[in-house]
Amino acid sequence: MGLTNSSTGLKALDSNPQTKRKKSDDIVIALAGNPNVGKSTVFNGLTGMNQHTGNWPGKTVASADGICVTENNRYVLVDIPGTYSLMAHSVEEEVARNYLCFGEPDAVIVVCDATCLERNLNLVLQTIEISKNVIVCVNLMDEAKRKKIKINLNLLSKKLGVPVISTVAHKKSSLKTLTDTLDKVISKEIVVSPLKIEYPEIIESAIKNIQQCLMGYNLKNLDSRWLSLKLLDDDQSLIKEVNNYLGFDLLKEKDIKKAVNESKEYLNKNNINADKLKDMVVSIIVKTSEDICNGVITYEKKNYSSVDRNFDKILTSKYIGYPIMLLMLMVIFWLTITGANYPSAILSDFLFWIQDRLTDIFMYFNAPDWLHGALVLGVYRVLTWVVSVMLPPMAIFFPLFTLLEDSGYLPRVAYNLDKPFKCCSACGKQSLTMCMGFGCNAAGVVGCRIIDSPRERLLAILTNNFVPCNGRFPTIITILTMFFVGSSVGIKSSLLSSILLTLVILLGILTTFAVTKILSRTILKGVPSSYTLELPPYRKPQVGKVIIRSIFDRTLFVLGRAAAVAAPAGLVIWLMANITVGEANLLTHVSEFLDPFAKIMGLDGVILMAFILGFPANEIVIPIIIMTYLAKGTIVGIESVSEMKEIFLQNGWTWLTAVNTIIFSLMHWPCSTTLITIKKETGSFKWAALSAVIPTVLGITFCIIITAIAKIFI
Ligand code: GDP
Repeated sequence: MGLTNSSTGLKALDSNPQTKRKKSDDIVIALAGNPNVGKSTVFNGLTGMNQHTGNWPGKTVASADGICVTENNRYVLVDIPGTYSLMAHSVEEEVARNYLCFGEPDAVIVVCDATCLERNLNLVLQTIEISKNVIVCVNLMDEAKRKKIKINLNLLSKKLGVPVISTVAHKKSSLKTLTDTLDKVISKEIVVSPLKIEYPEIIESAIKNIQQCLMGYNLKNLDSRWLSLKLLDDDQSLIKEVNNYLGFDLLKEKDIKKAVNESKEYLNKNNINADKLKDMVVSIIVKTSEDICNGVITYEKKNYSSVDRNFDKILTSKYIGYPIMLLMLMVIFWLTITGANYPSAILSDFLFWIQDRLTDIFMYFNAPDWLHGALVLGVYRVLTWVVSVMLPPMAIFFPLFTLLEDSGYLPRVAYNLDKPFKCCSACGKQSLTMCMGFGCNAAGVVGCRIIDSPRERLLAILTNNFVPCNGRFPTIITILTMFFVGSSVGIKSSLLSSILLTLVILLGILTTFAVTKILSRTILKGVPSSYTLELPPYRKPQVGKVIIRSIFDRTLFVLGRAAAVAAPAGLVIWLMANITVGEANLLTHVSEFLDPFAKIMGLDGVILMAFILGFPANEIVIPIIIMTYLAKGTIVGIESVSEMKEIFLQNGWTWLTAVNTIIFSLMHWPCSTTLITIKKETGSFKWAALSAVIPTVLGITFCIIITAIAKIFI
């Protein structure tokens, strides 16, 4: 649920390593590592930036760069997506591999998880085949200590031939050793002489034959031994990238082609074809990691993860896994709704008090009515609504959700939902992207990069909008509270609100399943792919940091974006309310034009207009409805939910209008940011258009059916 410019896809797409090649005087350091090893935490600690961190594999889907200043140098640090290997089976692996190969970093820091070092060494070994300056950073040392895992760092460093340091990433002091070591590696005070992975004699001879031939060419920063091996295992997509980087076609050079063919024939003669070669390379890397760990790691406590397994037995249980999930969701909603009531009222009083003072100032200066109207009653009032309605629930919801994310619960949700998604021929990781959609659908769409299969990724992108983002939550909560819970503030009413909200979310989830299934049976046919979903260890979230970060990075980011849209929208509404054409103002004309169709849907023209004007940001839908009713009516101030309800009732709202508005809020076109992101992620207007058409058609259909049925019975 990382909400920043990059996570919403606005910056993230500029992550192509080719476009990130360093400037001549930059010292560029790449940060690599398996997913969920604390790479982004190390990156944030070194650069002072706020990359998205969270306890689940796969959240870093794009590269990010930042500046790290040490005693001796100024580095450009590039955080590349977490990856288990550089054999490029997925988009992230490709991005990571391409950056290491062609981004020409001056050094690579490979961040490893101290609690499962052996597996992490596979990536270290693959990295040292590509890059010469490698530093291994063994992170999560506190967890290792807790699990009584001992690591002999000196011996590890000796075996790998590269510096090895240990860290606890969120402790700044522990990063000092890392930057000191980096300085020494860059100044050549520490000489790195990485271990050379030994392959069987036959493969070594085949490699040597090509390597000798490559000596005559300028390979820029590429390692000739590694390149020889890649030419042998016939990785076409990699060879294409290499050719792009070098500026010539390797296999069009006669001598290289001849050497590659000779080596392949030689391997074939020894019963080693391309596939077998790949298998052999992988197993040798795994075996080497195993050998290195011998004597380096000591486990003093057997079954160190038994507590985690016991938790897993409960949280992913066949019978109580789902109820627990729903309960967690309800508790989060309950805390959000209950907690938001009071600050919302205080904020609203305060901001309306400021509105009166602003009016005094305008009167003092004898400002014309139209100026006061446009700026105070238009721009300022809509801003006030957006801030007072949105800020409190977001400031509570984001930290709560982040705590859940940091604890490691989200991958368990993905595990639980894997089966239903498989039934829809989709991928269980889709549930993780849905979770990201709770914060912001654009972030959810970018997050779909964690899904490897393009077909399943598209399914996830096209259905992400059925999860209401934080811009739509306040709309849904406000209407639920007004019409179905009542204005009384108490445990009973807030509990009822959260149950109803959970039901609305459930409807969104069920629609996601249904639409996914229909799409995978029609235009996106295919069988679900197999994948491994890693369940990370449960971790104690850093509560203070989570609260601060989720307020600054997420709440204020979303609020800023909403406010940027709300201000001009307020002006537009005010202008429309005050420009008269014929007998009525523009607002009336537009809402009356939309009214007949809106009525069929059980809404009214104003509500439909508010959804249309809310295209840039869903947060402004309710404020627009209120502003429009106010502009048309006589009431000028709203102090409480019941007064707000009074306005809605005066304008013809019934429980049916409320239900339809909630349904349409859940199912209509995505906001502009999300649509732009979908276009960028899929590279196609067609998919972006479809992602708007599907929910809109469904929303309209649902509303029409509900209205028709209600009319029969009422
Ligand atoms: P990335 O996927 O490799 O970028 O990992 P993150 O930086 O997002 O970290 C994954 C999780 O591990 C987050 O919840 C972090 O707060 C937590 N974390 C990172 N480093 C450490 C560490 O050294 N000790 C502990 N206990 N937690 C850590």
